Amino acid sequence: MTTIATNQLTVPDEIRSRPGTARMLTGDRPTGKLHIGHYFGSLRNRVRLQNQGVDSLVVIADYQVLTDRDIAADLSGHIHEIVLDYLAAGISPQRSTIFTHSAVPALNQLLLPFLSLVSTAELDRNPTVKEEIAAARRASVSGLIYTYPAHQAADILFCDATVVPVGDDQLPHLELTRTIARRFNDRYGKVFTVPKPLLSPAPRLLGVDGRTKMSKSRGNAIALSATADETARLIKSAVTDADRHINYDPANRPGVSNLLLLIGLCTGQEPEQVAESLSGAADLKRTCTEAVNEFFAPLRRRRRELAADPAQVGRIITEGNTRARTIADDTLDRVRRAMGTFA
Ligand code: ATP
Ligand code: MG
Repeated sequence: MTTIATNQLTVPDEIRSRPGTARMLTGDRPTGKLHIGHYFGSLRNRVRLQNQGVDSLVVIADYQVLTDRDIAADLSGHIHEIVLDYLAAGISPQRSTIFTHSAVPALNQLLLPFLSLVSTAELDRNPTVKEEIAAARRASVSGLIYTYPAHQAADILFCDATVVPVGDDQLPHLELTRTIARRFNDRYGKVFTVPKPLLSPAPRLLGVDGRTKMSKSRGNAIALSATADETARLIKSAVTDADRHINYDPANRPGVSNLLLLIGLCTGQEPEQVAESLSGAADLKRTCTEAVNEFFAPLRRRRRELAADPAQVGRIITEGNTRARTIADDTLDRVRRAMGTFA
């Protein structure tokens, strides 16, 4: 479990003192609207890094959606909604490059050399791959699932990212990315930067089921764009437990503790401190609803305003894709030279 204080800024000192030497890459899969787990797990750190002056890239991993589902439904609709979520959360297209995976073919060409550097056993035991198969809620997924971590390594390494703000579900992928970068450099000479993950104080916010990670695909999420009423309904339905006394104990009382953490994140308090101020289960849910709705009200208002200009989303992605293609072409050239292969 995390030991990062709820209200702690998580931009490391080494980046804060020399933001010009860092580059951030992170992203999301267009499988639905972003939720408050994304916000506290990754989005808030992205905005902080961007605002510190770190060159930032955000990938919308549309091509990768195919890896755990055969049909990527309504990709363009999801991409549109996610860009609105980004903008409302404070990601600025002037300072961050927002691009879509499928529009950058040179990035995707890194997949084969990267897969050649990992064993099938390493892919088999990757816990995130197992989790994603379970989350896909299907009898079987295609062989593409095994390419997921190497694909993600390509997303991160193609732009020489040094820092990757993620939730803890992504740590095994990050570790494999670091391994791929090291192995490539050992085999072919130094081409890639070895990146570091950046966790937030909420590296795994649970869903309203009180049990599993809040996820777009699990139907347990509170969307950033939910209305105040929808939020109230979802929190009211949140699974807690029968003990009326409120205390913070994530191992034994995950549902209650998750709501306490959420209140803490929204109000800048530690969850233990929040627990002491509450009188019982009804108070917990009421306070949580108020805290979430108050915290996200400005973001939601901005999002509604932004939605009035749908054309801007296309412009932002077109510009981002152009920049990402330039970076990826340059990286692929370096890779080809290092490997001594391809024309
Ligand atoms: P899906 O169900 O389609 O996998 P998701 O909700 O897991 O969707 P992703 O697009 O896979 O979202 O994840 C995007 C980023 O957000 C990743 O860095 C991931 O670690 C982070 N993230 C996702 N859910 C949470 C969560 N509940 N708490 C903290 N971070 C999260
Ligand atoms: Mg996921």
